[in-house]
Parts: sequence; structure tokens; C-alpha cells
Amino acid sequence: MKTKTFPGGVHPPTYKEITAHKQIEVFPFPERLVLPLIQHTGAPLEPIVKKGDAVKRGQKIADVDAFVTAPLHASCSGKISSIEEWFHPVRGKCLAIVLENDGSSEEERRNPLPISEIENQQPQFLREWLREGGMVGLGGAAFPTHVKVSPPAGKNIEFLIINGAECEPYLTCDQRLMLEEISKIGIGLRILARASGASRVLVGIEDNKPEVIARWEEFSPHLPLPVEIVPLKTKYPQGSEKHLIRAILNREVPSGGLPLDVGVVVNNVQTTWAIGRMAEEGLPLIDRVITVSGDAIAQPKNLKVPIGSLLEDIIPFCGGVREPLKKVVMGGPMMGIAQVSLSVPVIKGTSGFLFFQSVWEKKEYPCIRCARCVNSCPMNLIPSWLARLSEFEAFEEAKAARALDCIECGACAYQCPAGIPLVQLIKLAKSEIIRSSRKGGD
Ligand code: SF4
Ligand code: SF4
Repeated sequence: MKTKTFPGGVHPPTYKEITAHKQIEVFPFPERLVLPLIQHTGAPLEPIVKKGDAVKRGQKIADVDAFVTAPLHASCSGKISSIEEWFHPVRGKCLAIVLENDGSSEEERRNPLPISEIENQQPQFLREWLREGGMVGLGGAAFPTHVKVSPPAGKNIEFLIINGAECEPYLTCDQRLMLEEISKIGIGLRILARASGASRVLVGIEDNKPEVIARWEEFSPHLPLPVEIVPLKTKYPQGSEKHLIRAILNREVPSGGLPLDVGVVVNNVQTTWAIGRMAEEGLPLIDRVITVSGDAIAQPKNLKVPIGSLLEDIIPFCGGVREPLKKVVMGGPMMGIAQVSLSVPVIKGTSGFLFFQSVWEKKEYPCIRCARCVNSCPMNLIPSWLARLSEFEAFEEAKAARALDCIECGACAYQCPAGIPLVQLIKLAKSEIIRSSRKGGD
């Protein structure tokens, strides 16, 4: 199989065999769902419901008058019991709508789309339809999809890339969706192509998923538009937008720029699935598929869960934890976020939860100048130098050395034999650079 790739990157063990063969199971509606008002990139939402209100599954419960945002919908029918500060898997805590499930099956299906008419819809209509459905990127960044497919004046989108790389170790939810629900992904892909105006569609998949590549090869000729399947070398961080574009099209997104700047829009395979599902079923983005894995969970699974489900309710459905439970991470082990509470909810950007019986503790030594971090950096940075500048609080120099281009993939720290916390130091430099540029702009 001829594969494409990008320079740099690393090859951590994938651990995908734990769940890759496990069919998606449906997690039953829990008694309570918690829906944070911030779970996307852009303007925070404001509730349009109040304590005591009865809501139906699919009903809009929060929105704000802004372009870069995405409304929030009730993931089950029930009663709003409170709007209060709650644990958030990324932000620590934030305001959330707490919804008590009433056990009824009342639904509000406002958004079905005639599948045979997709290619006749106006792009602007489809963009508004995506916004109304609360659609955001489900690969982790949760960027509103309607914004992604709206090129600014003077810019055209030439290529739509569907990101099926799923390069983070352990995670297999996208892999299972491509095997089990490819027809919905096909519908979503048609909607994204029409909404963005892209004339070419490509699907990138790592070569450690040969059965998925075969499924796409079999399925894509049945679509009403040409779709190219591109096998990619299995390498981390192949799923990063910039590296997918580099590998597939050999185009470089400029420093500080967006895929749009090189005529490309990238959408994760699960986002594409959710769009297809919204078209078929008329329900907005209220469920997603996650992977629950790691050596400290008794029954690793791929699960379809209502957004807002609490981790403490998901754990018993997966057979409970195996002690000692040392670490819980939301997302993959390379870029995921360690959790401080089991009361965190699944948000739109949650690709999985990993449970570990041990933590990777590296003793820190002085840099031996081996350049492994440099060779592994997919952004062509000098991580050891950036970390050093950060340690000495030389943030202006770090800015000049392109600290802001760091995508925080962790490849450098993974390779460093001296155990230097390279990513934390670079993150610190980035936040200081951003803070001082905001101050300068005030
Ligand atoms: S410097 Fe940033 S982009 Fe480069 S390997 Fe390290 S974390 Fe990844
Ligand atoms: S990998 Fe670690 S030890 Fe080697 S040059 Fe980079 S920072 Fe120094």
C-alpha cells in the first residue's frame, strides 16, 4: 500500500487492540445530565431556559448572538433542575445547565434534510442549518463547523479533507464509526462539500486500519461525487490538521494561518457522521461516540453517549475501575487532559476517557543535546531552545523562535531522554506571549 506522510513525528505504541474490535454500545440515558455553557471554540453561551422548565430531547437550551459559537441542545427530555458552576473536563469549572431525565421519549426533531436534495441546497442555507444544529468539530478542538465552511470574501475552498487518521493511542471511536456507520458519514461528507464549495474530497486514513481503508474503497464509488481515499503512514500526530494537509496535498499552512489560507477545510470523521445523522434523523448534536480504555477500567468499550453524561455514571457501565486508579485523562494520552474529578461531563469535544493504574514519571536530568526533540517536532521547531527560553522568562525571544507555532502535540517530550517537561514549558511561554500581546492591545 502506497502511503503519504509528513516530516518529523513519533511512533508511540497504539494500544488500539484493546477496543478496535469492540462494536459501539449505546450508553442508556442517565438520571442526570450536565451541559456546560462552554464546550466549543468561540463565544460562551447564555441559557435560554430557567430552573424548573420542562424540555424535550433536541430542544435548544442555550445560544448567543455571535458568529463564532454553536448553540446547545437538551440531550434528553426532562426538567432543568439548576444552572450552576460544575466541573468541566478542560476548564476546571464553568456554568452548566443541569437536566434531570424524566424518562419520557419526547423529542424535538426540527432539522431533517431531504438526502436526495443535498446537492441542490444553497451553501448559505446549509451553513445556517449546521449552526442551528450546534455542530462543532468533534476531534477535540470543537471549532464551530458553520464557521469552518464559510470562506471569507476573496478566499475559496478547493479541497475538503475528511480526517479519519485517529492518530492518538487507545482511541478507536472514529475507527468503529467508519466500519459501522459509513453511510451516515457519506451523507455528512456530501453536506460539507456542498456547504464549503469544495470541488475535491479526500479521506485520510492511517495504514494501521486496513479494514477501514477497504470499507471506504468499497463504499465511495456509490457516492454521487468523486471521493479519493488516501492511506497515510501510521505516525503521531498525523491527525493534526496541518500535518494531514502537508501529507495529503504537500501544502504548508502558513505560521499563524488556517487551512483556509491554502484552500482547504478539514473535518473530523465523527463530525461528518454527526452531520449525516442530523440530516437523517432531524436531531441536533446531542450524542457522540467515545472510547473508554486504559488498564484501570474493567471493561474497555466504544460507547454512544448523550452529551452531558457524567464520567461517574459511565464508569459502572464499563464494569468499574481497577485499583489502584492513578490517573484519568480526557482524550488521548499524548494531548489529553488529566482530570481532577469523576463528576466531569462528556462535552462535544470528548473523544474518550482513559484510566491508568500507573503514571509515567520521568526523573528530570539536564539536557544532553541529543536533538531527539528537534527531529521529532512536526512543526520544525527547536523544543529544547524554546523550553530554555521559557525557563529564563525570555518570552519575547521565545516568540521570535516561533513558540506560538507549537501545536502542543507532546512528540518532543515523548522522545526526550532527560525527562524535561518541554510541553509544559512551551505552553507557559505561549500563554505569557498571548497575555502580553492582549495587554499591549488594551
Ligand atoms: S515543540 Fe510543540 S509542536 Fe514541536 S514536538 Fe513539541 S509539542 Fe509538538
Ligand atoms: S530531547 Fe531532551 S535531552 Fe535531547 S536535546 Fe531535546 S531537550 Fe535536550
